Amino acid sequence: MNIRKLPKVSLHDHLDGGLRPATIIELANEIGHKLPKNDPEELRAWFLDSCDSGSLVDYLETFVHTTAVMQTKEGLIRVAREFALDLAKDGVIYGEVRWAPEQHLSNGLTLDQVVEYVEEGLSQAREEVRKNGGYLQTGQLITAMRQNDRAQEIAELAVRHREKGCVGFDYAGPEAGFSPSRHASAFRWLNEQLMPVTLHAGEADGKDSIRDAIVDGRTLRLGHGVRIIEDVFVNAEDSNQYAFGEVATWVLERGIALELSPSSNLQTGAIPGVENPTMSDHPFDELYRLGFNVTVNTDNRLMSGTSITRELELLTETFGYDIEDLELFQLNAANAAFIDMDIRSEIMDRITEGFAKA
Ligand SMILES: [Zn+2]
Repeated sequence: MNIRKLPKVSLHDHLDGGLRPATIIELANEIGHKLPKNDPEELRAWFLDSCDSGSLVDYLETFVHTTAVMQTKEGLIRVAREFALDLAKDGVIYGEVRWAPEQHLSNGLTLDQVVEYVEEGLSQAREEVRKNGGYLQTGQLITAMRQNDRAQEIAELAVRHREKGCVGFDYAGPEAGFSPSRHASAFRWLNEQLMPVTLHAGEADGKDSIRDAIVDGRTLRLGHGVRIIEDVFVNAEDSNQYAFGEVATWVLERGIALELSPSSNLQTGAIPGVENPTMSDHPFDELYRLGFNVTVNTDNRLMSGTSITRELELLTETFGYDIEDLELFQLNAANAAFIDMDIRSEIMDRITEGFAKA
């Protein structure tokens, strides 16, 4: 099975987590930013090692270097273009690109400018892919950081760019102690604007955080939502019998898409109750078998040394999936995508055709 050739959808992929090491080095040299390594392969290994520490805090620290080189027009366009070209090379036909414009203003650019520059890079990539006979659609997810208090401003930014490449709103950063209830009015406003929202929840914190994402954040998807498994209970006498808490019941019965990112979830300690987890400890398969709406994502390709193809390969090796399973994961993702219905139908047709031919 050549997974790379199959048409795929990526819903949870951070722009500042998907840079090419050689690009980081070139851009850092231009602006005089000091890096821990100056050789592309050594830098690639440094990112991976730093992110294997098992702590979300260490993991997030690596972003200091990637965001540092994404503070100029040139840097933003280049990073966005390469990010999308790399998706296409991996067989992705639709990618949602999430990032936090508020973290790209240190050189005096405005929120609107940075969003425009990223869209310019994405659009250059889409055009290049099209010219080479390929197919690629993208959509920006504009992220507000939980710990900052700019959610309303960022929400308005996302809505302003709705017809110009932005398809939704995301909420990221430290989960515990930074409930979306702090920005409930921004989420209510987004809801009134009919702007789709996805929240990071159920990664660094458990089911109560998922409940907050649903109730206060009005989220349509969960990034990553992996800790929903804490609200799923196996019967002590019969391990084939499960009981669901009310949050898990809601997520299951409403079909709320889980933006699972297997490798990243292992790295950030999002697997409850397991020290040094391996892929077989990831609840992906359990959630899938129980009927949750699972999707497969990378989160940060550079930090996890991965791609959608690799994530699907790892899951296939671990849980024995076949091509029908992989197709379902892609259709789940396409169904949960925030892009307009006409493009979504086109993407779903391409998935069905591509998998039928394989
Ligand atoms: Zn994420």
